[in-house]
Amino acid sequence: MEEVGLKRLTGDALDRYFGTLLDRFQVWAPVCIPAGGRYQGQDAVQYKPVSNWRDIVWDRRSDYSSREAILPITQTLYTFTGDDYREVKPKQAKDLLILARSCDIHAIRHLDEIFLQNGGYEDSFYRRVRDKIHFALMECTHEFDGCFCASLGTNDTDDYAMRLAFDDEGIFFEAKDPSLDCAYATPSDRVFANPTENELKVEFPEFRSIEEVNELKSHPMWDEYNSRCISCGACTIACSTCTCFETRDIVYSLNHHVGERRRTASSCMVAGFDAVAGSKGIRLEAKDRYRYKIMHKIYAHDARFHTGPMCVGCNRCSAHCPQLISYPATINKVSQALREIREQEVGYGE
Ligand code: SF4
Ligand code: SF4
Repeated sequence: MEEVGLKRLTGDALDRYFGTLLDRFQVWAPVCIPAGGRYQGQDAVQYKPVSNWRDIVWDRRSDYSSREAILPITQTLYTFTGDDYREVKPKQAKDLLILARSCDIHAIRHLDEIFLQNGGYEDSFYRRVRDKIHFALMECTHEFDGCFCASLGTNDTDDYAMRLAFDDEGIFFEAKDPSLDCAYATPSDRVFANPTENELKVEFPEFRSIEEVNELKSHPMWDEYNSRCISCGACTIACSTCTCFETRDIVYSLNHHVGERRRTASSCMVAGFDAVAGSKGIRLEAKDRYRYKIMHKIYAHDARFHTGPMCVGCNRCSAHCPQLISYPATINKVSQALREIREQEVGYGE
């Protein structure tokens, strides 16, 4: 189907249109956090509510995904006093309009699987925000460093209420939801164009049996991560699709019956995350935790939900790793190890 030209809004007209969006929505978009990056003086790009379209950072990948709009790093679920407790009501009454890349919209689909379709239970705290979310798909102006969305098919999506592209003067947009259209926008011949392929190609393995999965678990490819990975968890906190959290009760005073219950993001990469009664852990070495994370991404999630890898190819994990461990390189190594396992099996059979 031939693409139709997007509509154009700039300057005062865009201010006016953005004002109508703000009347109706809390608008979330990537913004610059000065000196908020990993190294001294380095900026970060992170999702926040915005009140001015000029604050939106559109020409680079955000350091963290739009996941924060629906799943904050830390969130108070309940307050309690004595024998009574109360669910904390959401602060936001308006619907949310999230300006998100295609991969980030696909990532929310994976969050939906975990929080709404897992074991027949819905997480009500997630549900109450999810029902208010509308997506404005942001064009990727160019391929950002290290992306491999095309290897997963997450480089495009139909799941949006509107889609838009930016330049220095304003936006080009198309409203799929007619209520987001704008009568005073001007026509243009600019079309929406996300990247269709990436320089980085990643081969996600397809497992034929649980025996193959178990053989891969003891493959020597994991050994190097014992010395390389420092179990900091940065890769998972930055990940668009990771959902591990801890629940803790925080008490306010000497009276331990008064306080709040918080859900806080956590990581399967951190030692002690899997501790059970008696403080005994299950995955004791860094390589065990790394293998667990990778196998969850490329095998276990699909085994449960049948929706492919729990990954959208944003490569934020590798960008945040202080040890320069590359997630896509690991996946390609897994595919190579799987080929070796299959070749050995053929050899034994001869
Ligand atoms: S590329 Fe890395 S950060 Fe992005 S979704 Fe996949 S595992 Fe998560
Ligand atoms: S960011 Fe790197 S070093 Fe830290 S837990 Fe993840 S893989 Fe290991």
